[in-house]
Amino acid sequence: MMVLVINCGSSSIKYQLFDMTNESALAKGLVDRIGMGKSSLTHIPAHRDAVTRTADIHNHSVGIRMVLDALVDKEIGVIDGLDKIAAVGHRVLHGGMKFSDSVLITPEVMAAVEECVELGPLHNPANILGINACAELMPGVPQVAVFDTGFHQTMPPYAFLYGLPYEAFEKYGVRRYGFHGTSHRYIAQRAIQMMGGRKDLRIITCHLGNGASVAAIKNGQCVDTSMGLTPLEGLMMGTRCGDLDPAIVPFLMKKTGMTPDQFDTYMNKKSGLLGLSGVSNDVRDIEEAALGGNDRANLALEVYCYRVRKYIGSYAAAMGGVDVIVFTAGLGENSISMRSRICHGLEFLGTILDSDKNQTRGKEQEISADGSVVKIFVIPTNEELVIARDSVEICSMLCKTDKDHPPALIEKFA
Ligand code: AMP
Repeated sequence: MMVLVINCGSSSIKYQLFDMTNESALAKGLVDRIGMGKSSLTHIPAHRDAVTRTADIHNHSVGIRMVLDALVDKEIGVIDGLDKIAAVGHRVLHGGMKFSDSVLITPEVMAAVEECVELGPLHNPANILGINACAELMPGVPQVAVFDTGFHQTMPPYAFLYGLPYEAFEKYGVRRYGFHGTSHRYIAQRAIQMMGGRKDLRIITCHLGNGASVAAIKNGQCVDTSMGLTPLEGLMMGTRCGDLDPAIVPFLMKKTGMTPDQFDTYMNKKSGLLGLSGVSNDVRDIEEAALGGNDRANLALEVYCYRVRKYIGSYAAAMGGVDVIVFTAGLGENSISMRSRICHGLEFLGTILDSDKNQTRGKEQEISADGSVVKIFVIPTNEELVIARDSVEICSMLCKTDKDHPPALIEKFA
């Protein structure tokens, strides 16, 4: 059974096609610069070279059409017909308070995703475009929405409320939602498996990519996470500032004359590692500059690691201790030196990094020393696989429980 996973951004579409009989990825790729000119599709069939095709891709519907054409193409394709695709799973950024679990997409679900546009103004509209394009091009194929916020919906009110007047929450839905939920869920589940299936664990998951967040997971459920109403809160990231004194916003707006939109861009696109180092948002560039004697580059890395360490300490306090720390995403999976800098100073928690085991990149590995009370793991994330698994599970379950299930579901999943 094939499942197509789609992740639409405002000007891009990432995709991956899975054969769910053995959970293997048959192809993946990226449609880039939609509606911006010089748009292209890069398609990578498994175990073969990437192929890039340029075209005028003026909207998401055209982009998805190109993806589907590539999947069935005689030369670069991996399936002989679109009818082989049993379901499409979509990454949807913001599910607000409405969605804690993944769902089959229905007109009611679409209306609710639409209502969440206010909370996810950059991503939810693109997600909606992608869902509509798939519905148009693959009529009758069930589609599933997997929300980036869903896993964090188990947070208790004392963790998700801000210290603002209560009406900000009641009237406007201002609260912590958290993001990267699919990634935190995947690596926490893998960590539980690697710990012999123990459910009673206190796990701190560190998703450290260009965007970065930390989550506290107790007994398999998220109890706190560092991103908030938007992905701007929490850790300092590639280009995002993370936690700030909120009074800095009006202070700097008055000083510089920036408008709210300009200030939003300042905090989201010009800050973080890029803004502090003045070099790049990419840790590899900053490390190189730091090695070459650039003090600001080194300071930016120190600020980054200090903040991750502080979150780990505070989440250990939130859970009454910690049993497992997991690193994932670009930096978490690949940067030996940053993992080492983050863990240095966490020994008081019973955390001892093994510097030899830490010499690893991009693969699943325990990196804690034999005597470490807290296990430390590197676990490469796989959000697409979670989306594909949820899609299969939801479609199969509906076939069993819903008497009015659509014919396309019965055909493929019953
Ligand atoms: P992601 O958003 O998960 O794709 O992560 C991208 C970020 O991971 C980059 O901007 C880098 O900061 C970081 N990264 C990726 N590979 C490495 C590496 N080999 N060493 C250090 N940092 C890396």
